[in-house]
Amino acid sequence: MYCDVSVPGPLEEPFTYRLPETMRHRVAPGCRVLAPFGSRTVTGVVLRVHAEAPQGSVREALRLLDEQPALEEDLLKLGRWISDYYCCPLGETLRAMTPLAADIRRGRVYSLTSSGHDAARQLHLNGASDDAASQLLRLLDVRPLSASYLTKKIPNARSILRALEKKGLVEMEERTEERDPLRAAASRLRVEFRARTEQKMGKAERELLSYLELHPGSHNLASLESSVAKASVAARALARRELVTLALQPLNVSFGTPRSPHALNSHQQAAFSLIAAALQTGGFHAFLLEGVTGSGKTEVYLNAIDAALALGRSALLLVPEIGLTPAVAGQFHHRFGERVAILHSAFLDSERAQQWRRIRSGEAQVVVATRSGVFAPMQNLGLIVVDEEHDHSYKQQETPRYHGRDVAVVRARDAGATIVLGSATPSLESRYNAERGKYRRLELPERIENRPLPRVELIDMRQEFLETRKQHTFSRALIAAVEERLANGEQTMLLLNRRGFSSFVVCRACGERVDCVNCSVALTYHRRDRRMLCHYCNYSGRIPDRCPKCDSEYVQFLGTGSERVEEELHLAFPRAKIARLDRDTVRAKRDYEAILAGFREGSYDILVGTQMIAKGHDIPNVTLVGIVNADVGLGLPDFRAAERTFQLLTQAAGRAGRGATPGIVLIQTLNPDHYAICCAAAQSYEMFYPKEIEFRRLMWYPPFGALANVVVRSSKEEEALVRSGELGRILNPPPEGIKVLGPAPAAVVRIKTEYRYQMLVKASSRKRLGEVMKELRRFAASQRWNPASLLIDVDPMTLL
Ligand code: ADP
Ligand code: ZN
Ligand code: ZN
Repeated sequence: MYCDVSVPGPLEEPFTYRLPETMRHRVAPGCRVLAPFGSRTVTGVVLRVHAEAPQGSVREALRLLDEQPALEEDLLKLGRWISDYYCCPLGETLRAMTPLAADIRRGRVYSLTSSGHDAARQLHLNGASDDAASQLLRLLDVRPLSASYLTKKIPNARSILRALEKKGLVEMEERTEERDPLRAAASRLRVEFRARTEQKMGKAERELLSYLELHPGSHNLASLESSVAKASVAARALARRELVTLALQPLNVSFGTPRSPHALNSHQQAAFSLIAAALQTGGFHAFLLEGVTGSGKTEVYLNAIDAALALGRSALLLVPEIGLTPAVAGQFHHRFGERVAILHSAFLDSERAQQWRRIRSGEAQVVVATRSGVFAPMQNLGLIVVDEEHDHSYKQQETPRYHGRDVAVVRARDAGATIVLGSATPSLESRYNAERGKYRRLELPERIENRPLPRVELIDMRQEFLETRKQHTFSRALIAAVEERLANGEQTMLLLNRRGFSSFVVCRACGERVDCVNCSVALTYHRRDRRMLCHYCNYSGRIPDRCPKCDSEYVQFLGTGSERVEEELHLAFPRAKIARLDRDTVRAKRDYEAILAGFREGSYDILVGTQMIAKGHDIPNVTLVGIVNADVGLGLPDFRAAERTFQLLTQAAGRAGRGATPGIVLIQTLNPDHYAICCAAAQSYEMFYPKEIEFRRLMWYPPFGALANVVVRSSKEEEALVRSGELGRILNPPPEGIKVLGPAPAAVVRIKTEYRYQMLVKASSRKRLGEVMKELRRFAASQRWNPASLLIDVDPMTLL
């Protein structure tokens, strides 16, 4: 008996292995197996079990990892579709689809043999000999350790270990084990004193141990860090020596205040009735739910889920990355109790695995998840809801570069389920599909309880400059409006979609810009960190006091970021309580929730932030939204720049006036006539869509035809240039039904020390695009390019 296994990597074809006696009756398609591959052992997914002996020598599969298929037939099929549509290897795709991938940790673990322990004892008696081999023996005398740990500890550990292995002092085992919970973030761990010791230890460890001895009971590790320096590192070291216990704290999903179901208003009811009817009929149905901000889309979803459950079918709700807060999860718990499973990125792998099993067994019939939840092992799937379907976080930015919404549509179609895509600002693709009758449109044209949409004013910052002769971050109108909120006890949100303090630093003498050493982009000045940071590779450099090129001292900090907005707000409103929400203040998921909860509860008057503040939040006391600079992002060389600006501004504006008091929105811009900004000011998708779709039609951009971005990467610029030229020649003259832009340097030509040249391929049909991409991949393979050097992004969300 044999099995065909899809292994991770760039290979197109599955590999065939012989099945050992013990595995024969247990292996089924979709199970994962451990198998030898070259000199490595890899985890692959079984595609087929058969009796056809392949030609040549066949190796034997090593171990079966699943008693039940990790991917059932429907998901295997979906995987094939993804691999085909997004032009990516099946092995990589299937690996990304198996959520439990992380709970098998392959690793080499070394331990001492009994003669090894003897040798270690001898060393002990003979006193200090400090060569690397002795160090290794001493370490391993305490407990078995992983190869990765040892190589970090001791230079050259691998070769020494091999030598010791030959001498029969150590032995090596390939382990597959559950990921070590001690790797969890400090905020998720509790630590407790266990034993004292006379052994030597470092200062931090000694301090932590005596602190814990004096303060019995278990402590949250993160909060200990304020009392004991380096508590987190020390605790892990002590835990390894079994002097303290570290235990995982259950994730505290705060359920918020339960909201009783609202009686649907007439628009909600009309939309819901159509969805319910589709569920009742069964089979595939797709809806686009267009509801203005604050129109109560969530309530429609909840009712639709109820309806699916009543028919004995399960329901999957996908939300954008940032949308899955405990508050949202709590709402679902309240409504559906134990039947809900949440796939949250703050969960550890083992917890995610547990949720996955609950879904798989049918115990959980409602699943709330982010992008990869589209692969949840739903049983008897009846409904998928994709909330904020336009959100860019649905697109995965690494292989497989799938779009969660589009995969959800395919999954629903294959499962004979109903799918609802919801948004106030639908993607052009979805709206176009609705126009062509692929989706049925549902509308919620008004806010709940007839609340008005906020009033929007554009503030022309050119005019402001002419009148004040000063370059201010805040216009006079915005200052006055904030003052008014402060006086009335109402809240303000201010958006600037750019983090850091100053977005670039230039020399006024010679014009030199301070760039990242790894990327061709400017470094951003971050004041709190006192560093210059690269937003692409995280490189951090010193703050220049002189020009690195001409040594002039006239270095100028330009381009305002959210950190600076906060600073200037403090100056303008010294008494206001101000919080900031961006990637710098939100290092952990917890921070995000803490800041938002604080704002919701009124601990802050003003919340400043990047696009993070624009998403979905429903905070009734916010009556003013200010857009500090609407033009950020408008000029980017990307065909989605206008769409993205419109979505961001409309969504941000939608945060205002959601409660009983009406809201206003002030948009500061230098481009008050740009259609993305005008339409956002009118909060009118109906105005924006015809303009944007016309542009796309003219330029042959999505949703017209099919688009792929083909990027060639290399650490050598010459090589990237030459190779992209070779690909360009294959498509020159362009074959029938194909248009090609480039190859040309990417907008940011160098990222993380790699040069990138790109070529945009537009095709008249999917089929054509797929064929052309296959040809390019075949060429790269025939030239033996490193597989990572050719990157194909089908349906790209960004060209940057
Ligand atoms: P959207 O997602 O469309 O912006 P939400 O679903 O967040 O809007 O709903 C906005 C607010 O209206 C929420 O506080 C919600 O509880 C409330 N709401 C929803 N439906 C109703 C209803 N039928 N009657 C009263 N309030 C409702
Ligand atoms: Zn200079
Ligand atoms: Zn960089």
